[in-house]
Amino acid sequence: MVTGLARPANRCSRWWLLLVVLAGCAADLDFLPGLLFNDPNRFHHGPSHSLLAAVLFGAGVSALGQALPLPRGSGRLAALIYASHLLGDWLAADDGAPFGIPLLWPFSMEYFISPVTVFSNFHHGTAGAGLTAVLANIFSMHNLAAVALEVALLLPLLVLVQWWRAFVNPSDRRGR
Ligand SMILES: [Zn+2]
Repeated sequence: MVTGLARPANRCSRWWLLLVVLAGCAADLDFLPGLLFNDPNRFHHGPSHSLLAAVLFGAGVSALGQALPLPRGSGRLAALIYASHLLGDWLAADDGAPFGIPLLWPFSMEYFISPVTVFSNFHHGTAGAGLTAVLANIFSMHNLAAVALEVALLLPLLVLVQWWRAFVNPSDRRGR
């Protein structure tokens, strides 16, 4: 599992994978409403990149958990994964104002970015750029290098978690 989190019982594993992927990407679905205006960046790094959005996403998953075969605590976990996206964006370089993300929206309109950025910025066009220009930016060598940097930085963490499970704390291998 890409998150290094324990997988639940087989009965849930398909929903579990969907939940992890969706929770990790949900904040960036704010590109979609901009497509209606041929300006995908119009709403990007808005309210969906706030801690409140992470809490609401988790609450939504909790409510859905009544209908889907999700393990207990899925809502909290979904909120945590959602928040990890915010942490990644906060740690990433940003070359377009406003810099960072509105973590405390709607209580504060301030944008936050780490004083020391760890990850590279991800090119996705500038404000007002149409879909074609945005796609050309997304599928660029710069972004390939940005993804490679993230993998290089995060893969050792994942390996460490797997090693912990296998050798240091085998009782943590539940649900595998
Ligand atoms: Zn994002």
